[in-house]
Amino acid sequence: FAPWNDPNAKPYIQFDNVTKKFGDFTAVNNLSLTIFEREFFALLGASGCGKSTLLRMLAGFEEPTAGRILLDGQDLRGIPPYRRPVNMMFQSYALFPHMTVENNIAFGLKQDGMPKPEIASRVAEMLKLVKLEQFAKRKPHQLSGGQRQRVALARSVAKRPKVLLLDEPLGALDKKLREETQFELMDLQQNLGLTFVVVTHDQEEAMTMADRIAIIDKGEVMQVATPAEVYEAPGSRFVAGFVGNVNMFEGKIARGEAGAASIDAGNGITIRTDNAGAASAGTAVTFAIRPEKIKVSSKKPAEAVNAIEGEVYDIAYLGDMTVYHVKLDDGQVVRASTMNAARITEDPLSWNDRAWVSFRPDAGVVLTR
Ligand code: ATP
Repeated sequence: FAPWNDPNAKPYIQFDNVTKKFGDFTAVNNLSLTIFEREFFALLGASGCGKSTLLRMLAGFEEPTAGRILLDGQDLRGIPPYRRPVNMMFQSYALFPHMTVENNIAFGLKQDGMPKPEIASRVAEMLKLVKLEQFAKRKPHQLSGGQRQRVALARSVAKRPKVLLLDEPLGALDKKLREETQFELMDLQQNLGLTFVVVTHDQEEAMTMADRIAIIDKGEVMQVATPAEVYEAPGSRFVAGFVGNVNMFEGKIARGEAGAASIDAGNGITIRTDNAGAASAGTAVTFAIRPEKIKVSSKKPAEAVNAIEGEVYDIAYLGDMTVYHVKLDDGQVVRASTMNAARITEDPLSWNDRAWVSFRPDAGVVLTR
């Protein structure tokens, strides 16, 4: 499933040069974005970046100040929320406290005037979908947070919208339940064949669930890509730093030919990279490398092109992996991690030991913005 790579794929949701201003404040700035049918799409960004505003404009609670939003080719301007084939699930769930689970799920269907027998069968189907059959007669306060979340989900898909918008859907759940529910949401989206657009500030959540992620900053799209691309090939310092842990070296291309270059990172550190792209000699660059691409050893590695000496600053054992912080002689602290099952770093290192960090020339990316 990768319609974004298919030049003939029809865009489903299109933000077309959309701007949203609140008074003098620009919450969304001339933003364009395409989402495909049946995609699980995440809008990821820090608080206040404008991601909820994007969702609210798609739902029809706000109108763009400029630009258009299209759904299946139709301009949505002026169409009220209840007439859009879009439903929104709020972080607060907004369940009716005095109504049973089944009445909460049935509410929208009744309002639409659906015949009673049809409502009953639809509600039963939804209860089964979210595995809450035994809880039909309970009220929201008699449910756990995770169960309430599932009622809200059942209610928002009961009307069979074409698009479900989820604003921080798992924000109220604790870490463990949140992780379980991420997989449930993915299954549900697959089974229903809907298009999901989720807003989250949690990069792990976006990485886990989404087919593609748009990283938003100050009302603008910084990058749109699959989770793997965002992580492995961030296009900017902002994206590299926002998603996952990363080490950054500031420097200048010293010498370069056809993608391979040396970067002078100051303090006697030279980095050899195969990933310099078109950056030419003299260009100021950031070299960004993920912790798991860096090896730590007590002796200078014979084979490594890139080896920098420092001192073990601290070591954290996290069960699945061990994280090393190594302070280089110029003071910069490098983060390196090793999966404990793989054990790339086999040296018995201790705090304050002299150590070498090393990495291959094909690891890491060279960023110019
Ligand atoms: P959060 O995760 O905190 O909800 P967000 O990225 O979803 O953040 P938005 O809710 O889209 O952010 O808000 C973007 C910016 O627009 C914020 O600075 C917010 O204060 C502002 N804003 C949103 N709605 C309004 C409004 N109705 N009037 C004025 N300013 C608003």
